[in-house]
Amino acid sequence: MDNWDTTRLVADDKRYVWHHPFTSMGDWCAPEHEPIVLVGGEGAVVRDSVGREDIDGNASIWTNVHGHNHPRINAAIRAQLERVAHTSFLGTTNPPAIQLAREIVELFPPEKFGHVFYSDDGSTGMEAALRIVSQYWKLRGSERRVFVSFRDAYHGDTAGAASLGAASMFGATITGLQFPVQRVGGPEELEMIPNPGEIAAVVIEPIIQGAAGMKIWPAGTLQLLREWCDSAGSLLIADEVMTGFGRTGEMFACEHEQVHPDICVFAKGLTGGYLPLALTLISDQVFEAFSGSNREATLFYGHSYGGNPLGCAAALASLEIFHKEKTIEALAPKMEALRKGLALTAELPGIERVRSCGMIGAVDLSGKTGLASHVCRAARERGLLTRNTVVLMPPLVISLAQIEQMLRALAESIQSVFVSGQTGAKIPVVAG
Ligand code: PMP
Repeated sequence: MDNWDTTRLVADDKRYVWHHPFTSMGDWCAPEHEPIVLVGGEGAVVRDSVGREDIDGNASIWTNVHGHNHPRINAAIRAQLERVAHTSFLGTTNPPAIQLAREIVELFPPEKFGHVFYSDDGSTGMEAALRIVSQYWKLRGSERRVFVSFRDAYHGDTAGAASLGAASMFGATITGLQFPVQRVGGPEELEMIPNPGEIAAVVIEPIIQGAAGMKIWPAGTLQLLREWCDSAGSLLIADEVMTGFGRTGEMFACEHEQVHPDICVFAKGLTGGYLPLALTLISDQVFEAFSGSNREATLFYGHSYGGNPLGCAAALASLEIFHKEKTIEALAPKMEALRKGLALTAELPGIERVRSCGMIGAVDLSGKTGLASHVCRAARERGLLTRNTVVLMPPLVISLAQIEQMLRALAESIQSVFVSGQTGAKIPVVAG
């Protein structure tokens, strides 16, 4: 095992690093806060700088799919690294990006999606989707400019993507940078939209809203949206950043209702959770509008690392694992174990509600807000690393025994907080 100087690392972290945007740096840097320094990982387990191992209960913020240090993904990245780490997508192209685009398009029925636009993460993938749709309607000579989004939605932090997200998350910080947005609570409110002819697209996190606190949509929601969009003449954008690549039990969440959006956005699990890469998948109908050689039909959007060959190589290896290891087929007993275990957890004191959707489990605690952070702290003492909202979203590779271990750790932690009243020190609030 490597020897890490944890004291020094933590001191330097607090001195030099500004953490995730949803983190209060005052709380993070407080003397009583001891950040966990992660240095390794294997399968569904992560290891910290003092040698402790925990189940990665939130799949490293919903990214990891096949486990840490998967030999096939490691080998694919190494092989690409020996060729070249990065070349520009501005004016040149590269084999892994070409192959990945083809393989992704071919995952869907023919004629549904024709092209892939690369970017870096969920936020930029969504930003690209919104910019494409805005320009699409302008190219079509239409006045459609308004996006419909759902009240508690989260689509990322770039200004455009944030303008669609829950106002409560961003407050006034993004005022002035927004796309015009009409917010609705659910599909039933679509009928009350006074101006369907102005709607450019409806944007949804399909099947389940993540950052909203794992809110599962009623069955049929996607179909209703598709029908409404078809009758209103607007587009449907599916933000599969969290749900894509097996998380909900199907390869993509839209498959649960056999709905085909006009645009899909993938990130997080796209590379198996190894490297930052996103793609915005575009229907032929939308792409056609951009097929001309004139300046108006050129999309003025893109980033230096778009189509990064290392990320694309990792994504190709991840798709190969889905195929070779039958990842989706292997999920049924795991999803059932998670569902049953959470149903038992619901019997414990202090639990308001539990729910699961595929390989996502969530627990709402009753009583004071902030108790979840104490449960997460207690869980850490029992070998489970999860976050303030009690969400269980391990890498799909997790074993049945590890699921049991995770559920046991959660149940004991809930009991320790609600029955024994052990709370311990405050943990910085991290959302999103
Ligand atoms: N969309 C959804 C549904 C997400 O859950 C997230 C991230 N949690 C994003 C977009 C933004 O992704 P990223 O953090 O990679 O920018």
